Amino acid sequence: MVNIFNFNHLNSFDSFSYIELILYSLFLLSIGSFASSIIFRLSSNLINNNKRLSIYSPRSFCPICNKTIKVINLLPVFGFLLQKGKCSSCKNNISPFYLFTEISFLVFGLAIVFFYGFDIFSFLLLFLFFLFYILFFLDLKFYYLPLPINLLVIVLGFIGNSFFNIFVNDVYLLFDISPFLFSLYGFVIGYVSLWLVNFIFRLFYKKDGIGGGDFILFGGLGSLFGPFSLGLILFFGALTGCIIFLFFRKKFELQAPLGSCLILGSVFYFFIKNFELLNNYIVL
Ligand SMILES: [Zn+2]
Repeated sequence: MVNIFNFNHLNSFDSFSYIELILYSLFLLSIGSFASSIIFRLSSNLINNNKRLSIYSPRSFCPICNKTIKVINLLPVFGFLLQKGKCSSCKNNISPFYLFTEISFLVFGLAIVFFYGFDIFSFLLLFLFFLFYILFFLDLKFYYLPLPINLLVIVLGFIGNSFFNIFVNDVYLLFDISPFLFSLYGFVIGYVSLWLVNFIFRLFYKKDGIGGGDFILFGGLGSLFGPFSLGLILFFGALTGCIIFLFFRKKFELQAPLGSCLILGSVFYFFIKNFELLNNYIVL
């Protein structure tokens, strides 16, 4: 059965025309721009509770002078360059995070079609990158894992595995479980394991040690990568957590962004599985 790990990689852009690549690149830049606006809108609701922003309205504005941004200046990358990185009305610097996000989506999206072509796997991976990217930066900065985005990770896990077998690998056939059960076991074990850790922590310290968003995210990662992935994801997540803590001790002294660490942990897991780095040591 074809899954993401045994997929026959294209490793070239030869099968695409220039026009296809250009249109696809523009699409990727707009998705990047959309992702950064979601991050901005969801986080500004945290900072400024009385002024709630939805995904659609109001139209994009400068967070410093509140002036609505002209449509031409909203174009991904070009808008930033056109304004030379400054707001056209108040001349304050625009956060380079917008540019960084648009370019990240461009690079990641092109890498996906380089390996997988225009395939359903590419679409699912791009969607996953979109969700991970938003969760990663919101948790890193605000310790916030919004429920709708977390739920979409779970839905993506169930649909991606049940219908397209994306992360279900052959080891699971040995256990004779269906792709749907693969996701279900992963979700339940992921969610319950972190919930239990927190439950025990609460018995001793009388307060929550892990945020509720983290249980759901870990359940979501289980629904994507299956029950046997969770140990490694948690291990690499904790490892990156320690490294982040060493470098940014001041910022993360009181609380670690567990969600961001788990996302990095699952990226490590993906690469380990994909390049069979640990196959001589453990069967996953
Ligand atoms: Zn301004």
